[in-house]
Formats: sequence, structure tokens, C-alpha cells
Amino acid sequence: MSHPETISVILVAAGRGSRAGEGLPKQYRLIGGRPLLTHTIDAFLAVPEVSEILPVIHPDDENLCARAVGLTCGGNRQRVLPPAFGADTRQTSAHAGLRALAARPGPAPEIVLIHDAARPFVTAHLIGRVIAAAREHGAAIPAMALTDTIKQVDGSGLVLGTVDRNSLRAAQTPQAFAFQLLLAAHDAAIARGQSDLTDDAAIAEAAGHRVAAIAGEAGNLKITTPGDFARAEAALTRQLADIRTGQGFDVHAFAPGDHVWLGGVRIAHDKALAGHSDADVALHALTDAILGALAEGDIGAHFPPSDLQWKGARSEIFLKDAVARVARRGGVIAHLDLTLICEAPKIGPQRDSMRASIAAIAGLSLDRVAVKATTSEGLGFTGRREGIAAMAAATIRLPEAAG
Ligand code: MG
Repeated sequence: MSHPETISVILVAAGRGSRAGEGLPKQYRLIGGRPLLTHTIDAFLAVPEVSEILPVIHPDDENLCARAVGLTCGGNRQRVLPPAFGADTRQTSAHAGLRALAARPGPAPEIVLIHDAARPFVTAHLIGRVIAAAREHGAAIPAMALTDTIKQVDGSGLVLGTVDRNSLRAAQTPQAFAFQLLLAAHDAAIARGQSDLTDDAAIAEAAGHRVAAIAGEAGNLKITTPGDFARAEAALTRQLADIRTGQGFDVHAFAPGDHVWLGGVRIAHDKALAGHSDADVALHALTDAILGALAEGDIGAHFPPSDLQWKGARSEIFLKDAVARVARRGGVIAHLDLTLICEAPKIGPQRDSMRASIAAIAGLSLDRVAVKATTSEGLGFTGRREGIAAMAAATIRLPEAAG
């Protein structure tokens, strides 16, 4: 029985490496507002030939991986399989991925690509070329000629000689193989007790297979150091050239009570704000400003007051939803600016805690959130202390193609 060719991708993402800085494993650190792994998955989702994508992760990172997959925007994410769990070395993690693909229901893939999760800038063109080369040769890798002069040194750093670089290449990923060829080569390596080979081509070579080297891409950077993260951030920011501003406006009337919620901060007051949710007029205006920049409707369309589930809801839910919509479009929020209009409560003493609260909800640094306040000089409904009005502006950056 014949079936369409299956091309599977294993993303090796089980490392715990924190050479790129403190905190999260590097594949979950944010560049351009989204986890590194999200960008890498998107690169493969953009290639229609790719049938399925299997992340191989550390067992502690299931939630981080689910979040990274949820933020993809490159295509039908149904093609991302539930993750497999990796082991101590890159080789054993890749092997775990191959075994998971062999064990899943359905026919085994014809072609498998193994890719470092830390190379988010792989292009559809390179993916297509390495697949074609694997069809022809059974095993293929992208590789770069070396431009620096290469020296051999001894243990004390003294130069022993100059190496002829013409026959040398630096190997990249994705590396593509006939699936059964690579699975058998991995099984054989494990059977020999070998578990520290640093790429899959080395495993195929050790099994006696010929591996074709095709031209790699200089932009196919492997993100390792803090400097690499800074360069990746700069490269992504240059791509986010569709700059948009949205505005939001909201009013809530005062009602009996002893506190109001403004910007996610509970402020003692001799009245409350009336509303279906917690009536946080500031977060509502900010949510609408972001939705406006996206041209994706308004807060009432996404969270209708007629829907009982939002009764008494914390308004940070609404702002977080708008922020996630920006991420799903591949964009970032550059700035949020809020103006509150009321005679009371006094906003000044709460300004810093409101900025910190909004920044935390939106996942922004403090210097990207402004909170301002004014009275209306005793005029109108705010002047008569009948309620609070809020105005907001959001500046966001989207990938140019999204416009
Ligand atoms: Mg409202």
C-alpha cells in the first residue's frame, strides 16, 4: 500500500545549557517577545512539505514547550507532535526522537530531518534543499566553507601549524536522512556503547554511509552566547517593520463600595467601580488599544458582557489575551501609554505600582509602560465624581508580511 511521502522533523531541545545567560534553558528564552523554540518551530511550519515536527525536550520542560508551541504562527500547528523526552546527550536525545517516530501510529517516515532548536533562522529554501539532497544521497548536511585561517595549537596555546582549510567545512543543521538508514545507524552506535557523537552525520558516517555536504547559510546562526541572543534580537527587530498604533477608551461609573481596581492594583476608595468584570477601566482601555493596533475587534467582541463566565473576572485576563494575540501574529508590543481621568482617587501615589502591575501582566519592561493622570477641572461626569475614564495608546510591531 502506498502513501504520500512523510517528512518528519526532530527538534533537539533537551539541553539544560545556560551558557547564553541565567535563568531558563536557552531554547525557552525570549527573542522578539517569543521563545526561541517558537521561532524554530515556525520556520518548519512554513514549509508545506514538512509532515510533522517532534520536539525532544527535557521532562521538566513540558509546560514551557506547550507554551512555545501555543505561540507559533507559521502554519497549521496540528503538525507539531506531543514532545518526546530526551536524555543526557544530544545523540541520545536524537535517538529518543527517532524511536518515538518509529513507535507512533502510522507508517514510518521516509525522510527525517534533525535540527538544533537553537537555530531559529533556518530558511524554507535551506530546508527544501537538504530534503532534496537526502532523497538523492540518503544522507545530507548543510555545511559552510571556512573563511578564517585555521591553526592547530597545542595545550599551552602555541601554534603547531596552519591547516589547509579548503577541504574543511563547518556542519550546520537541519541534517536530513533516509529514516531507516539513520535509525539503524543510531541503534548501532548505542549497541557499540557510543553516546557522545555531536551530530547525526557522524553517526551515519560511523555506520559507513556517505553523507553529502550542501551549501549552508551564513544566517543559520546557532544561538549559544549572550552576544548571539543580542544579535538574534536585533535581526528579528529589523524584520518587525509593520509599526502600528491603536487607541482605547473606557468609562466605568462609581457605585457603593470601598475600593477600585486600576491597572491591576487594588486601591482603597470610598466608592467602587460598577461593571460586569472587576471594572478595571485602565486595563480595559489598554486591552482595546492593543486590539485596535491589531485590527482584531474590541474587548466586548472577545469577552461579551452577556457571557456569565466573565462576571467578576479579573481584567488581567483580557489584557493577557490581547498580548497573546500580538505574539501569535509574530509581533511585539513596543509601548503602552495610559491616561486616567478622575478627581479621585489620587493616582500619583499609585503610579509606580500601576506601571509595575501593567508591565508584569503584559510581559514588558517598566520603561515600556507609561501611566498618567489628570482631572477634568470639575467639568463633566468625571468632574462631578460620577466615574472614571481611561484613555490608552498601544504601539506594536508586526512582521512586515503580516500587513
Ligand atoms: Mg470596561
